[in-house]
Formats: sequence, structure tokens, C-alpha cells
Amino acid sequence: MFHHIESGAEAKLNHQTSLAVTPEFFAKDMEYLKTHGYTTIFPRDLVNFFDNSVPLPKKPVMITLDDAYEDNYVNAYPILKQYGFKATIFTPTGLVQNPEYLSWQQIAEMGGSGLVYFGNHTWSHHSSAGTLAVQDKEISLADSQLTEKGQNPDKIFAYPYGNPSVDAENILTKYGYKMAFTTVPGNVMCKGKRFTLPRTRMGNAELNHFGL
Ligand SMILES: [Zn+2]
Repeated sequence: MFHHIESGAEAKLNHQTSLAVTPEFFAKDMEYLKTHGYTTIFPRDLVNFFDNSVPLPKKPVMITLDDAYEDNYVNAYPILKQYGFKATIFTPTGLVQNPEYLSWQQIAEMGGSGLVYFGNHTWSHHSSAGTLAVQDKEISLADSQLTEKGQNPDKIFAYPYGNPSVDAENILTKYGYKMAFTTVPGNVMCKGKRFTLPRTRMGNAELNHFGL
């Protein structure tokens, strides 16, 4: 799980150091995955494994970036293209087109490349708390905006702030969602926990520090 991909100076200036990985470390991470024989997958590959017993490649890994920052396009996308690696960007759709966030045009370009998948991260980056009505609106509005733009056909979600809730899970199920990611640390993907899947938070360190 990544967020910003930006230089240390930019991260410091924007007070984002805890959410930022430098382009140099991101490139190093990709090189590590390549030399260690990992294959990048999309969420749908895990859904197919869970539901249809479609085998996963050896050493499968899912690269995810949260919040749809513009630096993902500027700094991460060229590196993904260089390696032919797949990544998933969890997108708060109401923030698209705002300063520092991706534009719909950038989303269309990356989505069209076949290398980047865009998942639901609510409309306003809303935590999975509050009334059912608010949560429903946050999830369904983002769902319809992504669908309108031809994105997220596989119905994949990540909880803003990483907090799952039973209410959110019920809403996601109602809208046909197949899986949801938290920020709970871990790398074991279990079908029975398909709406509370863990992730590994990446930082500015070598990938082997993160158990890979
Ligand atoms: Zn987020």
C-alpha cells in the first residue's frame, strides 16, 4: 500500500512524509519485485482465485496506491510502464480534478493502458462511520461516477482511513462489491475475510524490510 510517490523535499514541504515514498524507492521496489520473480496482479485475479479457483501466478503481488494523487501519474505511472507492472489506485471520486489529485483524463489514460485499475475509495474520502444513509451515499456516488467513466467493473473497494465496518460491508454487498481492503497489516489473503483484507504499508526502505 502506497499513497504519495514524491521526493522527500516535496513530502516535507506538504507535511506528507508518513504517506510518501520517493520515486527512487518506488523504482527500487519494482526492480526488487522483478528480480525476485514476483508477478503483479489485479484485484479481479484474487476474486477469480477465491470464487472460481483460477490459479494465481507464482509469487503474486498486488500494488495499491490510495487517494488518487496526481503524483501517481507523474512519478509512479512511468515506472509501472517501464516494468509492465499492474497497480490499483483507490479513488475518492469527489476529489478528482482538484489540485494535487488526478484528473479524469489521467485516469482514462492510465486505465486504458491496461496497467492501472481504479477502485472505489468513497466520494469524499469518508470514513466508514456515521449514519447508514451517509455511508450509502458515499459508496454509491463513487460507484456510479467510476462506472460512468468506465472504471471499476470488478467492484473493488478500500476503506478510507482503513476502517472496516459491518454497515459498510452490508452496503458494499448491496452494490455488488466483491472485496474490500483495509490498512490492517498483513499479507495473507483469505476468502473468508474478503471484506477486511490486510495490506502492507510501504515506506522509504528496501522491500525486504516489509517481509517480501
Ligand atoms: Zn485514503
